Amino acid sequence: MDVAAYAKLLPDITPRNKPYWDGLAAGELRLQKCAACGRHRFPDAPLCPECLSGESSWEAVSGAGTIWSWCTMHQKYFAAFADEVPYQLVYVRLAEGPLVISVLAGEPGEPEIGRQVHAVFQPIAGDRTVLKFSTGAAA
Ligand SMILES: [Zn+2]
Repeated sequence: MDVAAYAKLLPDITPRNKPYWDGLAAGELRLQKCAACGRHRFPDAPLCPECLSGESSWEAVSGAGTIWSWCTMHQKYFAAFADEVPYQLVYVRLAEGPLVISVLAGEPGEPEIGRQVHAVFQPIAGDRTVLKFSTGAAA
């Protein structure tokens, strides 16, 4: 499917976040890593929120983490998502430290705080792939 024909909301790809989107398309979760203090960060930012260094690189991380918080979304805020409710939003603490918000892939029910999850990559339109998390066996 062409991105222009995709009815759901998609973030803009910018020069700053392009490595993140390129990583998802390649089946990798890539985060910025501060060159000064070594911390990973999400979302991308021009400065490290810990030490304010402007030097960073992009690195693939494990995609492993634990559910820090979650909720079930029932509200249909956008017509294009009406066929997906209810779904579980999850806030995942990655093994590398950052918190990432996304959706739990393909499993209805109640997630558990502290449960192990791993990143999965769902191609959606054009060259776009989105990040989701799964409690199932890692690929
Ligand atoms: Zn830093």
